[in-house]
Amino acid sequence: MLSPSELLRYERQIPIFGVEGQERLKKASVLVAGVGGLGSFEALYLAALGVGKLVLVDGDVVDESNLNRQVLYTVDDLGRPKAIAAAEKLRRFNPNVEIVAVSERITEDNVDGLVSEADYVIDGLDNWEARFILDRAAYRRGKPFVHAGVYGLQGQVIVVVPGETPCLRCLLPPSLKTPAKIPAVGPVVALVGSIAVTELMKLITGVGEVSKGRMIIIDAYNMDLMRVHLKQRAGCSC
Ligand SMILES: [Zn+2]
Repeated sequence: MLSPSELLRYERQIPIFGVEGQERLKKASVLVAGVGGLGSFEALYLAALGVGKLVLVDGDVVDESNLNRQVLYTVDDLGRPKAIAAAEKLRRFNPNVEIVAVSERITEDNVDGLVSEADYVIDGLDNWEARFILDRAAYRRGKPFVHAGVYGLQGQVIVVVPGETPCLRCLLPPSLKTPAKIPAVGPVVALVGSIAVTELMKLITGVGEVSKGRMIIIDAYNMDLMRVHLKQRAGCSC
């Protein structure tokens, strides 16, 4: 099912996944929740890998203060909806990938419809309120959800697989509030987003060992990478 052009485009990664793994990527669809800092890198690397369909959801427009880290946008995009601008870039980058742009914020009302559009969900969000809505909906629908978050030079990644691992709410109180402006720098956002996509890539292709039931903590102040075991919380709705 891969075209001669795709076989050439992916020739450096097919030795890692095999043709079968590459076809799994092509058959897969991923909901990218937020195409800000994290989501820009996640969407870019998922498109580079050759994931068949990406659903980009973001209700924001591009602001000048985004350009220190949100690599899908240029000054020409200022004021434009991020989902639309990101979709244009990614279609030009890899025309083999079907891109759906949804210029909406994630809410209780639209989350089930959005999650049902894809096989997997990846977190490119910047706030806990929307993350918990997404985590619950993905768990309800049995969709693996890769959480990623950054704060300054630190970040974390958690792979949630319904029925196999604890969920995000096992670990963090749903009352968690997001600071108004999270400090963020491009290379660290890229590092954390890239780890999230690497875990999702392994989940889709079956190559390597996915970090299930563990939180990956990235501390770029000292360049430490830690993994912490997670336990299901008694009484959690998952
Ligand atoms: Zn839970």
